Amino acid sequence: MKAYVMNEKRELVVAKRPEPAEKKDNIIVKICAASICGTDMRTFLKGNQKIDPPRIMGHEFAGKILYVGEKLKKYGFEKGDRVTIAPAIGCGECYYCKNGHSNMCDSLETIGFQYDGVFASLVEIPAKAVRNGNLIHLPDEISYDDATLIEPAACAYNGQIYLNIHEGDTVVIYGSGMIGCIHAELALSKGAAQVFVVEPVEKRGKIALEKVPGVQWINPFTQNTVEVVREKTGGRGADVVIVATSVPSVHTEAQIIAAKRGRISLFGGLPVDGKGYLDSNAIHYKELQIFGAHATTAAYMKVIMDMMLQHKLDAKKYIEKTVTLDNVEEGFVSIRDENTMKVVIHP
Ligand SMILES: [Zn+2]
Ligand SMILES: [Zn+2]
Repeated sequence: MKAYVMNEKRELVVAKRPEPAEKKDNIIVKICAASICGTDMRTFLKGNQKIDPPRIMGHEFAGKILYVGEKLKKYGFEKGDRVTIAPAIGCGECYYCKNGHSNMCDSLETIGFQYDGVFASLVEIPAKAVRNGNLIHLPDEISYDDATLIEPAACAYNGQIYLNIHEGDTVVIYGSGMIGCIHAELALSKGAAQVFVVEPVEKRGKIALEKVPGVQWINPFTQNTVEVVREKTGGRGADVVIVATSVPSVHTEAQIIAAKRGRISLFGGLPVDGKGYLDSNAIHYKELQIFGAHATTAAYMKVIMDMMLQHKLDAKKYIEKTVTLDNVEEGFVSIRDENTMKVVIHP
């Protein structure tokens, strides 16, 4: 089958790969839609040492089950079922897995990293993913295309769990890509009074205004973010700051614009050494609360699916381009050069 692969030389190429074999303890799914994630984009631009090549790329997808191995029949999946997956698979045994935080598993393995990914026509779902509840039935009301956004949205949801956003809060989000916009939507749905996105790329800022009614845009090239936030909050600062970009200096600025007792999510990891951006005394005297966020769980994906079913979250509006495996690179290039929000692949 055709696939988008990281080869032994760690180059990304469209190549032929063997179809997954039917085994007693696997499930094989036909990919109906996959999407390019920020993580895939970073791999495209800078490589990724966490991937063991040769490896099929990609982890966001939805599809239809073609085969269920005998040993997995008891888990309620059948040929023809529509499914998606929480791609970060825990061991099911460690402290974190047993306490509902499989994304923090000590031996986390991820589709597209330690297992072959979904930029292909078929994917093998490992037994562990089925046993641990990572494979999820997809309701008929959610299209395959829309379903590819469940996982990234659920990552945003995981990040916001700690932030306790409530009515009247002022929320500032750095970065207005799709993830930034979803953060804004989730914050508004919790009753935030003001939601700002800080975005230097004009096209993205304007798109955020269009996609997320109620959001306000700060352009840090033409405005002073610290001053704007102070002015809009009576000098107090933001109750919640979400850093959904990987610009290191923003980690420091987040502590400056946060109000006393403010909650900060360092949602985007840094491509450089992460040391040296936090101000211990600011955290101490302002009683700041700073949280990390990494991946998501099947349980949070179900929360997002419910929001989609109740029309509280519309994924479709973020899909701006569709490609096939043959022109998958065009998808990456359009994200890089044209700030395309979400690219869906139809293998
Ligand atoms: Zn993703
Ligand atoms: Zn575990």
